[in-house]
Amino acid sequence: MSKRGRVFIVSGPSGCGKSTVLGEVFRHYKNYHFSVSATTRAPRPGERDGVEYFFISEEKFDDMVEKGQFLEHARYAKCSYGTPRGPVEEKLSQGVDVFMDIEVQGARQVKAAMPEAVSIFIAPPGLEELERRLRGRATDSEEKIRLRLETARTELAEAPRYDHLVVNDDCKRAAGEILDIINNA
Ligand code: ADP
Ligand code: 5GP
Repeated sequence: MSKRGRVFIVSGPSGCGKSTVLGEVFRHYKNYHFSVSATTRAPRPGERDGVEYFFISEEKFDDMVEKGQFLEHARYAKCSYGTPRGPVEEKLSQGVDVFMDIEVQGARQVKAAMPEAVSIFIAPPGLEELERRLRGRATDSEEKIRLRLETARTELAEAPRYDHLVVNDDCKRAAGEILDIINNA
């Protein structure tokens, strides 16, 4: 029987650079599956259904919650987000490591269900830089940026609960730190 895959939880305030850093990690580490979440938020320009997210209605989301199809789920910035359970179980049983980019409430749920999961918190170098990155990305409305910045403060307070804290000052350096965490887990 092949070895079971490992779960890596990655959290951090929206705009801190999680996707960018993970993209760099995955250029070097290939035995991974990126968990595609379901969300009720609208796609940003360029986002594709089934690739960055499964974009679904609130009704469909509630139905999936009722049927127990999420490993975890949470509300964030007035939208719902959840990790579909099926693909995670499938990949783990195939010996593939599963990475999930999820916010802090969801991370707590996964840690409770799977204490062996490795949790990584990615922090921006500071709140001003976070705001610069969110604005620089130019994908969210002013209201959404404000909501994300407000939420960032409470998210940063959760950082000490995580197994590892990585500051994303430089994308390549931060990715290197995560590669070390993967190799030592
Ligand atoms: P998240 O996935 O955490 O929401 P993104 O990966 O979309 O964040 O990054 C938000 C913005 O910050 C993007 O425009 C990205 O290019 C930029 N960015 C990411 N990492 C860095 C970094 N280390 N230094 C400067 N800008 C960065
Ligand atoms: P965004 O809308 O900027 O893509 O994501 C907003 C926040 O939702 C980010 O902190 C991201 O990590 C989180 N998120 C994405 N997918 C999930 C999920 O399936 N579950 C939970 N709990 N959070 C998620």
